[in-house]
Amino acid sequence: MPPNVRCFGGVGEIGGNKFLLQDRGTKVLLDFGTGFSDGSMYFDSGIQPRTVNGAGDLFEFGLLPEIGGLYSEKALQNTRLRYADPEIDAIVLSHYHSDHSGRIGYTDPKIPVYCGETTSLIHEAYSDSRSSPLDGHPIRKFRTGDRFRVGSMEFVPVHVDHSIPGAYGFVIHTSEGAMAYTGDFRFHGPAGSMTDDFVEAAKKAKPDMLLTEGTRVGHGVAGANMSEKTVLDEARRVVKGTKGLVFSSFRGNDVDRINTFFDTCENSGRRLVISMKMAIILEKLKADRRLKVPRIGKDFGVYVKRKRTGSLDDSDYYQWERPYLDHGVSAHDVRKRQKEVFLHLEAWDFPELIDIKPDSGGTYIHSATEAFNEEGEKEEAVIKNWVLHVGFSYAQLHASGHAPSREVGSLVERVGAKKVVPVHTEHPLRFKSFRKGKEWRLEVPRKGVPIAFSR
Ligand SMILES: [Zn+2]
Repeated sequence: MPPNVRCFGGVGEIGGNKFLLQDRGTKVLLDFGTGFSDGSMYFDSGIQPRTVNGAGDLFEFGLLPEIGGLYSEKALQNTRLRYADPEIDAIVLSHYHSDHSGRIGYTDPKIPVYCGETTSLIHEAYSDSRSSPLDGHPIRKFRTGDRFRVGSMEFVPVHVDHSIPGAYGFVIHTSEGAMAYTGDFRFHGPAGSMTDDFVEAAKKAKPDMLLTEGTRVGHGVAGANMSEKTVLDEARRVVKGTKGLVFSSFRGNDVDRINTFFDTCENSGRRLVISMKMAIILEKLKADRRLKVPRIGKDFGVYVKRKRTGSLDDSDYYQWERPYLDHGVSAHDVRKRQKEVFLHLEAWDFPELIDIKPDSGGTYIHSATEAFNEEGEKEEAVIKNWVLHVGFSYAQLHASGHAPSREVGSLVERVGAKKVVPVHTEHPLRFKSFRKGKEWRLEVPRKGVPIAFSR
């Protein structure tokens, strides 16, 4: 069998990327993530797969591929698949988002995970404060400019701009030809030119195959075309016009967004106050010489929730949380200075508003993707009820982590691969419209069916 890829996830769906590359005797997994709607017919926020049953509950509904020599003994304990020593040589991770990394926790910890240096710092932050799917695996780090070999394949990682730092695409050289994988990308973030670097490197390799994401292909959502710069301009305007408290929910690992809101705070004379879980990520990322991140104490305070005893006593907090108490800001502190604070508050922490008791007239900034399914709409409705309850106004300000349709089309055209495989998209057939008389073949993946690199 010539070099080929089998897609076990990210097929006709957004997220859940799981691609098995095979060249001669070498097998490498490119990402191993959780699909956003994985098993939503059987599971929801109330009914969850049992962790005690390892991979069993996920195998039941075909949510994980039953591949030998991939999973840990623990994951297979109660399944018909027998444990075998690893047959997969490596897992190569494009970035830390769970739709790319979320299922690595089921795999054999003997299998090394290759990831960007930045991703390894984010992994450490999650590992110290909760858990990380990479826990237990040997970690091999890379940066742009490095190359690494796994068996007969050579990987060239090249940075891309995305809504989490440390995101990469790859050019992969095999015994017969090359392929390129985009990971997740955009051009409209603060580091959009990094994606151009990837496009140039991919083009130079004259790849036989391009495996590309297409999250927004076929989605013409109005208002979804904000750049990070537009978010900043709008946030400055909205915050300047607010007399009371400003609070916002946004992803705690989106460093571009935290920088945008830090800049907004400097512009309006407000103090940025963030969650502990976000603080630990920023603290870890200080070690990354290429990243600019706000500093604890100087640039932001940390919101401290009341726990067990209701006092702010050290013993109430986990070991990893204790250092942050020195920079702690309580509900009472926020209330006292509500006109001077910009508070990061995730939706699950909204009950804190009951303690903060803000005066009406403040603003809530919803800094996330607008709801695209029923579950999301329900969540958004609940958020809006909380905002209404405290008498705040609601603003939607968000720049997507993904390129809009036409920019995906231009990437496909610029790379110039002979074969294009659309993944991480609900509309793979829409890629036809990018062809414009050009001579490349569209190969819509089917779950588990090998696609050879060359024709
Ligand atoms: Zn992503």
